[in-house]
Amino acid sequence: MSGNLFIVAAPSGAGKTTLVRLLLESDRQIGVSVSHTTRPPRPGEENGREYHFVDLPAFQEKIRQDDFLEWARVHGNYYGTSKRWVETEMAAGRDVLLEIDWQGAQQARKAFPQAIGIFILPPSMAALESRLSGRGTDPAETIARRIAAARDEMRHVDEFDYVIINDGLRQAAEELQAIVRAARLRCANQRRRHAALFASLL
Ligand code: ADP
Ligand code: 5GP
Repeated sequence: MSGNLFIVAAPSGAGKTTLVRLLLESDRQIGVSVSHTTRPPRPGEENGREYHFVDLPAFQEKIRQDDFLEWARVHGNYYGTSKRWVETEMAAGRDVLLEIDWQGAQQARKAFPQAIGIFILPPSMAALESRLSGRGTDPAETIARRIAAARDEMRHVDEFDYVIINDGLRQAAEELQAIVRAARLRCANQRRRHAALFASLL
């Protein structure tokens, strides 16, 4: 039994966190991996909820222990996905979603070639900039660095299976749900889920 693995990437500010939150509200069958990071928590973020916040030595120790399915340096901080959590969830047949950058997506795809990649684009560069500053959670210098990094991230869009343009939030959220639902209807998944029906019909 194996759940689906969804990899969601986007330049910072495109709306990835918002869209994933809306997906979780409408879909109880999917779990989002909580990454480890050396980035300090933003106001309102809680250890163990948005991220496991760790210092650099603790992160490096986890690399040495081979605890990460993937890890990368993003915007000057380290981020990594727990290998054990992802493998346990998927082995139990549950769907898992990773919110990671393109470097992590490449590594995760190597471990799980059947993973479904989804890239979220903003409707314009101007919208991306105003969403980043409008969020009001990052200092100006961090925002400038993230805008500069956005183009580098977006150059990897072709490595993903699906692209959502997050203009209207409602439509983008429906599109994300549609991708998740379609993945569950893939023949191999349906065969597994409805083994008795397949056996009786074929
Ligand atoms: P990311 O996780 O990709 O960095 P967020 O989900 O934090 O981005 O979104 C960045 C900001 O943009 C937030 O303030 C969010 O409320 C806003 N936002 C997200 N999607 C839309 C949208 N479709 N239209 C307008 N604002 C949006
Ligand atoms: P933020 O600091 O805004 O939460 O995230 C910054 C970037 O780090 C985003 O592009 C996000 O997808 C990425 N990121 C978050 N967690 C992970 C992770 O576990 N691995 C990798 N490779 N990137 C991550």
